Amino acid sequence: MDIDPDYYVQGVCSGNRKALAKTITLIESSLPKHQELITSVLDRLLSFTGKAVRLGITGVPGVGKSTFIESLGMNLVERGHRVAILAVDPSSTHSGGSIMGDKTRMEKLSVQPNAFIRPSPSGGTLGGVSRKTRETILVCEAAGFDVIMVETVGVGQSEVSVASMVDFFLLLMLAGAGDELQGIKRGILELADAIVVNKADGDNIDKALQAKKVYADAMHLFSAESSHWSPPVLTCSALNMTGISEVWQTVLDHHKKMTAVGYLEQKRKKQALAWMRTLLEEGIQEWFYRIPEVKNMLPEVTWAVERGSTTPTVAVKKLLNSLKN
Ligand code: GDP
Repeated sequence: MDIDPDYYVQGVCSGNRKALAKTITLIESSLPKHQELITSVLDRLLSFTGKAVRLGITGVPGVGKSTFIESLGMNLVERGHRVAILAVDPSSTHSGGSIMGDKTRMEKLSVQPNAFIRPSPSGGTLGGVSRKTRETILVCEAAGFDVIMVETVGVGQSEVSVASMVDFFLLLMLAGAGDELQGIKRGILELADAIVVNKADGDNIDKALQAKKVYADAMHLFSAESSHWSPPVLTCSALNMTGISEVWQTVLDHHKKMTAVGYLEQKRKKQALAWMRTLLEEGIQEWFYRIPEVKNMLPEVTWAVERGSTTPTVAVKKLLNSLKN
């Protein structure tokens, strides 16, 4: 492992894929010396970041996320874009078992010189995986990728996390699943900047159009109020590559509109500040539990609360007061 930050900074900025991959490996490493190195690399790369369209994609397993990303990715590469695909899947581990990573994915896209696919960082908490993905977005931008897609599965909290690191959050859905809105969490509809009903092909076209209507009504009810953007509902077939250009046009329209009113910059600033607060809180917690006074006192006050001889409020005050001296 190179220990010279220049190697990574220059390599990434000149679009060297090997340097890019190694830089992401540093991001994913938990070794303190790697973390120190990557901090200085990221610091120096920061001025080269921010120029990509950041697109988040979610949907339940089987909805067609990888097929969609492959189709959209190929469409974009053919138009001269450079596309990076990242994933947030906290279920992934070193031994496999990932919801997203256990099949051959994106065969055509993965051999394109202007596409870069990086699976979800394996293992770790959602917070850890999210941090790594956020930093990987920046590094890919510095390497000249102008579209970054971040995929996540439609289960659990990972959508919230991905929505908070992208400019546009796209929800892929299916038609004809009986009660159209069954199983869709309201909170996810609120996050979506567009819904795309996938698999609108063959016998399924009519059902897809019906579903589009139902979802459009639901979006009126559920989506977050914004005078700048009302999330549209589209249909596509990722398999047949129909409707894909329209989806991309929607993303571009959104980007243009949001940029014109300064909202995109504002959104990214808010995301960065929220992320800073999350990191700060995590850091404070870690630091707190390592303080010797806290370590000493914690078992005793825990026991006192457990047996009812003190209240949680008093216990916490005692712990915090022990730091004042
Ligand atoms: P993911 O789990 O969300 O990533 O879904 P995949 O992309 O792996 O797709 C799941 C299945 O749906 C695969 O068998 C795909 O071939 C199929 N599929 C994906 N998109 C379409 C589509 O637009 N139309 C049809 N008919 N099948 C599709």
